[in-house]
Amino acid sequence: MKKVNNFIQRKSLIYKTNVEYGDYTINHIQGCSHGCKYPCYAYMMKKRFGKIKTYEDWIKPAIVENTLELLDMEIPKFKDKITTLHLCFTTDPFMYGYDEIKALSLAVIRKLNDAGIKCSILTKGLLPIELKEYSKDNEYGITLVSLNEDYRKRIEPGAAPYKQRLSSLRALHDAGFKTWVSIEPYPTPNIIEQNLDDILEAISFTDKIIFGRTNYSKEITAFKKHKEFYNEQAEIVIKFCRERNISFHIKDGTVKP
Ligand code: SF4
Repeated sequence: MKKVNNFIQRKSLIYKTNVEYGDYTINHIQGCSHGCKYPCYAYMMKKRFGKIKTYEDWIKPAIVENTLELLDMEIPKFKDKITTLHLCFTTDPFMYGYDEIKALSLAVIRKLNDAGIKCSILTKGLLPIELKEYSKDNEYGITLVSLNEDYRKRIEPGAAPYKQRLSSLRALHDAGFKTWVSIEPYPTPNIIEQNLDDILEAISFTDKIIFGRTNYSKEITAFKKHKEFYNEQAEIVIKFCRERNISFHIKDGTVKP
C-alpha cells in the first residue's frame, strides 16, 4: 500500500459546478497519483494557477485534513440545494493503492448520504465493494478508454489495471447500483489502434456510457482525419447504446459538422 505524506488545510469544500455528473462537487485531495498523460486538465489548471509546480508534485497526493470538519459545517448550508454531489472533479476519490484516501472518501460519502445527499463517483482506481452498503441512490462510474494494458501503463501510469477496474464496477452493478462508464478522453488511431466495439462489449452491462474526444493534445490534431474519426466513433457509440437500451451522452465538441 502507498502512503500519503502531504496534508493541507482548506477553508471550504463543497462548490457548484457545471459538470454533467452532478450539480455540486468536492475535491478533498490535491493532486492525483494516477498521473494521466492525455494530458490531465486538472493538472494543467493547477499548474497554470501556481498550485502545483511539477508533474512529480502532482502525482504525490495531499489530503485535505480538515475535510470531515468542513463537511459538518457545509452540509447543513448546501443539502437542500444539491441534487447530486460528484466526487471528484480535479482529483480521484479512489486513487489506486492508497488506503488512507479510500477510507477518507468512504467517510465523505457516508456523511453526505446520511444527510440525504446522493453521490456520483468517478474513478480510474477501484470502486470499493463497501459502497454496496451505501445509499441505493448513489451512482458509480469508471473511466475506460482502452482495454490495452500497455497503453494504460503509458497513459494512466498510476491508475488501476483495466480488468480490475471493470470488475469493481461490475460488482456494484451486480449489487443493484446504477453504473456508468466514461470513455473519455478517447485516443485517435495514431496513438493506439483499437476497436471501440471491444470496449463497448466489455461495458455492455452498464446503465450509461459517456463518450468524448481528447482535447488539448497536439498528437490528436496531428491525426489529419481526427474530426471524421470522432464523428464515426460517436456514431458507433450511439448505435450500440440504442441497440442495447443503454443511456448515452456524447460530450460537447466531440461531434463536428
Ligand atoms: S485520474 Fe483524473 S485527476 Fe487523476 S491524473 Fe487522471 S485525469 Fe487527472
